[in-house]
Amino acid sequence: MRYKPDDYMVMVANCIPVKGYSRSIIYDLYRETFDFIPNDLFDLISKYNKQELAQVFGDTPSEFHHVLDEYIHFLLEKEYILLTDRPNELACFPDLNLEWDMPATITNAIIDIGSARFDIADYTGILRDLNDLGCTHLQFRFFPGYDHRMALELLGALNDLDMLVEVLIPYDPSQPPGYYVNLYRQFQKIQSITVFDFHGNLDFFDSEDYRPFAQYVRFTAEVISDQSHCGIISPAYFSVNIPMFTESLQFNSCLNRKVAVDQFGNIRNCPSLTKSYGLINDSDLKQVVHSEAFRECWTLNKDKISICRVCEFRYMCTDCRAFVPNATDKPLRCSYNPITCEWN
Ligand code: SF4
Ligand code: SF4
Repeated sequence: MRYKPDDYMVMVANCIPVKGYSRSIIYDLYRETFDFIPNDLFDLISKYNKQELAQVFGDTPSEFHHVLDEYIHFLLEKEYILLTDRPNELACFPDLNLEWDMPATITNAIIDIGSARFDIADYTGILRDLNDLGCTHLQFRFFPGYDHRMALELLGALNDLDMLVEVLIPYDPSQPPGYYVNLYRQFQKIQSITVFDFHGNLDFFDSEDYRPFAQYVRFTAEVISDQSHCGIISPAYFSVNIPMFTESLQFNSCLNRKVAVDQFGNIRNCPSLTKSYGLINDSDLKQVVHSEAFRECWTLNKDKISICRVCEFRYMCTDCRAFVPNATDKPLRCSYNPITCEWN
């Protein structure tokens, strides 16, 4: 790819470089991909975006011109930059608006149900409140000892609400595995089901009847007996996109606009956090989520968290505030070291 000294280098607005301690990343928020780059290329992009290439070369000692040439070719090949020799066109490439907002007080919720018995009306009341608060994504986690009949009633209650639900449920050996596919088919608001503690075989997915559902109904031998099975930080859960990036710039990428009910009926920011804001049968969920105390953790973005603040993954990574030594420490279940760039 050719370029001229009088070309201006313009970073494509949805391709955003993020600097880490030892390396940087260009987040391609439109194609939802990313590339690692050295920190000196990050510095170069930050300093010379919308500047003439003649100036970039003029400011760089000649023995490094071949490196600069490599960098420019890389940025062009990846379509991270475009070139124009008309300075009056530069105003046509505004920066991306990085504000984040949602027309919902609560965007996502977790409800855990175990052996503790509450009235179904307590749970359906919570579902209606969540719906009024604009919540569109719910996770139901059923733990051993849960009441299956009530679970079916709750899934049915979602039919009249505007939210989709992800279900985690223990395998019942008295049922054939196809039962869970039928659950998925029966309840229109189920987005996915994870059936855990399953040790059988999945041959039934070979049949034409069941095959299309294999991507929505997942079976695992893992046992998810309580809320402690959460908070793992892994590249498998990273997301590179505009909503995740812009939300993470300002807010906590796990707890912002989240509310949870643990298996004992406590309203919390997340089922694994210790602070309770009351029980579902004696507290008003809407009042709780509007309180300042409840919202305190929402603004704890990665730039306020030690170590994470120098990690190049910080705006694609999920967070966990439950399994941490102190409120603003790096998650214990993250094994990445941004200084050495290694996962242990
Ligand atoms: S704070 Fe941690 S344990 Fe709680 S929901 Fe988020 S990832 Fe899971
Ligand atoms: S160090 Fe922090 S930002 Fe980086 S991967 Fe781990 S949890 Fe995510």
